[in-house]
Amino acid sequence: MDSANTLKKYFDRTYTEIEFVKKTYEALKQLGFNDDNSIAATCICRDEISQSLRSVIKYMWGEAFNLSSLAGMFFAGKTGLAAAMHHAPIEGGKERYVFYALPHVAIDAEGHVGFCKRKGREGISSACGALNAFQKEMASGRVNITMDNEDVEQSLIRMRLLREIPYGHVPDLLELTRITQTAIQTDLENTIMKVVDTGKSDYAIITGIQIHEADGNYIWPASCYAVVNGERTELKV
Ligand SMILES: [Zn+2]
Repeated sequence: MDSANTLKKYFDRTYTEIEFVKKTYEALKQLGFNDDNSIAATCICRDEISQSLRSVIKYMWGEAFNLSSLAGMFFAGKTGLAAAMHHAPIEGGKERYVFYALPHVAIDAEGHVGFCKRKGREGISSACGALNAFQKEMASGRVNITMDNEDVEQSLIRMRLLREIPYGHVPDLLELTRITQTAIQTDLENTIMKVVDTGKSDYAIITGIQIHEADGNYIWPASCYAVVNGERTELKV
């Protein structure tokens, strides 16, 4: 199976990054968000192949606050989020935030999930490398769940994601990516509830999975919604 068919098989609908950011921008515009009165924040992997999404977000929304860790995990916490919250423009007494939070996975030209080619390098590479390393550890039957101070983010990934995986179950990389998407969303939402005053701030959460296909990057949308005056509205994406 080739790359495009694999994408279709595992993801019911996908958009190019430009289509996806445009769609979310247009939907949010109807709810009062625009590039003048809002600040975007991103929570995506550190991998350079993920950064094209940040470039599109910058093009549509302006420079975005960076909440990212390895695998797109939300480890910036209350302090990171509170910092972003102090940087938004204030219009009509309101602040507006748009959070894009997505893990990523690659599909190579032959349709293998988790693999990609990288410019100037022979052989195959994996993406997400951090999730792939964790998946391999689980498959080997040995997972180091202590905090390694020389590998802080990877230690946190193991600790956080193991909470979501039934004991003894070894998810494949695709399932692990979906579990990661849910974990990132949950952590971001929980922290927003503690930090954000919805009387003063409107915000949107845009989640999904970024997929590196042989011919470019795509987004599968998961939960996408806005909270305006404390009321939640689903975005049509
Ligand atoms: Zn990654």
